[in-house]
Amino acid sequence: ATPTAVMVGTGVGASQGVLIKGGHALESTHKVNCIVFDKTGTLTIGKPVVVDCRLLKDMSVQEFSSLVVAAEVNSEHPLAKAIVEYAKTCRQDEENPVWPEAEDFQSITGHGVKAIVRSKQVLVGNKSLMLNHNVVIPLDAEEILAEAERSAHTGILVSIDRELHGIIAVSDPLKPGAREVISILKSMKVSSIIVTGDNQGTANAIAKEVGINAVVAEAKPEHKAEKVKELQAAGNVVAMVGDGINDSPALVAADVGIAIGAGTDIAIEAADIVLMKSNLEDVITAIDLSRKTFFRIR
Ligand code: ADP
Ligand code: MG
Repeated sequence: ATPTAVMVGTGVGASQGVLIKGGHALESTHKVNCIVFDKTGTLTIGKPVVVDCRLLKDMSVQEFSSLVVAAEVNSEHPLAKAIVEYAKTCRQDEENPVWPEAEDFQSITGHGVKAIVRSKQVLVGNKSLMLNHNVVIPLDAEEILAEAERSAHTGILVSIDRELHGIIAVSDPLKPGAREVISILKSMKVSSIIVTGDNQGTANAIAKEVGINAVVAEAKPEHKAEKVKELQAAGNVVAMVGDGINDSPALVAADVGIAIGAGTDIAIEAADIVLMKSNLEDVITAIDLSRKTFFRIR
């Protein structure tokens, strides 16, 4: 393609809300045959909501929600925001509810949060957070978790003084049109794979809904980048689509890093292409534009 064609291509992209950072990014995109998708906030809406809460011990809902809010209010994680919002509604009948404060807060990336509240140790997070703190997960809790995961919900565990006290199910539905995008990509001979920090069961359920059969779950940021490199080593030209800080190593490692415009600044900086309208369909727009630019003019 001529430099003019590349300029026209990036210009057309910009006018459609697809920000392509330079000719190299536009050129690499038409060679992509494999796309790695982050789950939360990329394939899903990214605004999780609590859909169920089960208490397993003899503790009042008021006390339980107070401890959970105190621990999670310090976290920036979207799951934490959903949990705080829900837990606050559990005490909305009280005239002036007083919320305790956490004395010692710790955010454990990819696992959850840990805090001391009212002299109790409170853990809120996934299974490995519990296992790493020697919290036993009884069989009935395992069943509740499995049920949540089958419905594509994420089960968040709450332990108080190392005893499992509750399970909160959170739903983060697919973006409308996500399934169609994956199916169109398939018809364009581009395969898709999900890489997520979420657990295997939930990831599998979302994958099934969206029509993807390759899933890497419980992935730390470095694992996401490793997966990209592994696919490249197998001869693929790989694009990564993500929105989070935890996606940025993979966005950099990919042949084409594509950030969701509504995502974090760090992801947007790490990417070669930014989807300003945060529409997944624009992954296809970018590939089409690159194919047109690099196939039409020779
Ligand atoms: P993702 O956002 O893609 O699910 P993360 O690596 O941020 O990936 O988190 C992985 C998992 O750790 C989450 O699915 C959740 O189970 C747990 N987790 C992380 N942060 C929190 C939090 N603040 N509260 C509860 N659970 C959390
Ligand atoms: Mg994400």
